[in-house]
Order: sequence, then structure tokens, then C-alpha cells
Amino acid sequence: MGIRIVSDKRLRELEAFVESAEHPSHCEGCPGLEGVPLHHPSYELTGRCNLNCIFCYAYSTKKAGKLPKPGYYGEPNPKAITISQYGEPTLVGIEKLERLFSLLRKKFDARIDLQTNGVLLDEVSADIVMVSLSASNRESYLKLTGFDYFDRVLKNLEFASIVRTVFLPGINDREVEEIGRIAERLELELMLQPCSIHPGLEERLKRAGYDFERDTLYDYLDSAEKSNARVPGCLLKIVREILEFEDFEDIAFSRRSFASKPPEIRREWKFCFDL
Ligand code: SF4
Repeated sequence: MGIRIVSDKRLRELEAFVESAEHPSHCEGCPGLEGVPLHHPSYELTGRCNLNCIFCYAYSTKKAGKLPKPGYYGEPNPKAITISQYGEPTLVGIEKLERLFSLLRKKFDARIDLQTNGVLLDEVSADIVMVSLSASNRESYLKLTGFDYFDRVLKNLEFASIVRTVFLPGINDREVEEIGRIAERLELELMLQPCSIHPGLEERLKRAGYDFERDTLYDYLDSAEKSNARVPGCLLKIVREILEFEDFEDIAFSRRSFASKPPEIRREWKFCFDL
């Protein structure tokens, strides 16, 4: 890696940002906040998707033929349920989604968080609606997702509570501030997530111009701070703990190690509703 020259002032600003940054409301109730490496329980509906994002979290899981079967993965008394971790849940139709929310509400006293790409979104009764948007304009959206739905998703943000953006250095880092302005205008939270890199994704991202040299904590925090983004609670917890015994400048430019196997749900399948 070439020598990076950054000012001491900026390092101190980003260190202070780590102290003051908030986590997204979606992280409330997640074991990740306590340092337990588990996401919220989830209800999976489908492995299908109507986009083909170059950074898709499920890319290697799908290639390995290991997409989870539909149903609830979690404990009997969840605080929040994410719908869903894989595939695009709105593909089953808004009517079925609403039926699922109502069945889950009858069974559990839990917050319902919908995670969607927003293309087919309409008004829904989920408690939190997270819409993925990692581009600030039509052209970039098309390059990232393979589809020309930017304007449609922008319009559907009226039904959202959180804009979820994946940080892609070299690809969308110059657009994150503009996405932050879009979220601010609509009074939505912006959640900025580092990209999860699993087998096979590295090559795909490289072809799209991903800058692995800038896949650092410094670059991520720089974008998060400039765009007024919220930082995943589990990440904040880990970085704050490390900073108790390491200097910020010693960890700011370390490269992450990539996952060696496809992401999988670390909770047991319990049941599936007949929707
Ligand atoms: S980002 Fe981390 S803390 Fe937030 S919901 Fe996901 S796993 Fe939990």
C-alpha cells in the first residue's frame, strides 16, 4: 500500500466521531450491541431478487446453493425480527407481506423490520422500513444493480425510515455524501455499512473498480462522518473496545480480512407460515 498522508486533525476528528456516532434504530435490541456476533432473528421469504447488485451479500451463498429455506430463524421471544436477510421480500407481494406481519405480531411481541431494495415498495405497516440505496444517481444505480430503477426507488423512499447504503471505496465513496443529503431532505436515517466480502465477491468488485487499498476504517469513517451517517452498532462496539488499548492511527489503515465462506444464518429454523 502507498503512503497515505492524512492530517492529525482529521484523525482526531474521526476518533471523536467514533465516540459520538449513533447506531441506526434498526440495531436496537440486537445482540451485536453487546458484542455477541449475531444478527436479529429473521423471517426468510425467498432467495429470489429483482436486482443483481455487484456487492450482493447473498452472492456466494446463492452460488453455493445454500440459500436458507423460507421461515423463522430465531428464539421464542425475539425483540425484533428482520424480514429478511436474503432475497427481496417484496417479491411475494405487499398483501402477503402484511399477512406475515400480522401473523408474526400475533405470535411475538417484537419489532418488525423490513429490509428491501425498495423497487416494489408501497406503504407497509412494518415498524422500521430499511431501503437499500448505494448510488446517488441513475447511471451509478444502473451500474451497481444492473437495473434502471433509481427514480422509482427514490420515489418509494416516502415509505422508508432508513436508507441503507453499502460503502464501496472506488465505486460509490464520492456519492455517499449526496445520498446523505437525500436522506436528510426526507428526514430519514442513513445507515452506512462496510461491504461484506465473501468468496467470489472480491473478483466481481475488482472488475467494478473497488479500491481495496481504501477499504480501511479511516476511509469508511471519513465517508460516514461527512454524510452524517449512523454506524452499525456492532461495528461501533468493536472499534470502541479496540480503542481502549490501541491508538486510532494504529488501526485506522489496517486492511480487513475477508470471509472465507458464504454468509449463513447462525440461528435455527423454527417454523414457516402458510401465507
Ligand atoms: S448492524 Fe450489527 S448491531 Fe446492527 S442489527 Fe446488524 S448485526 Fe445487529
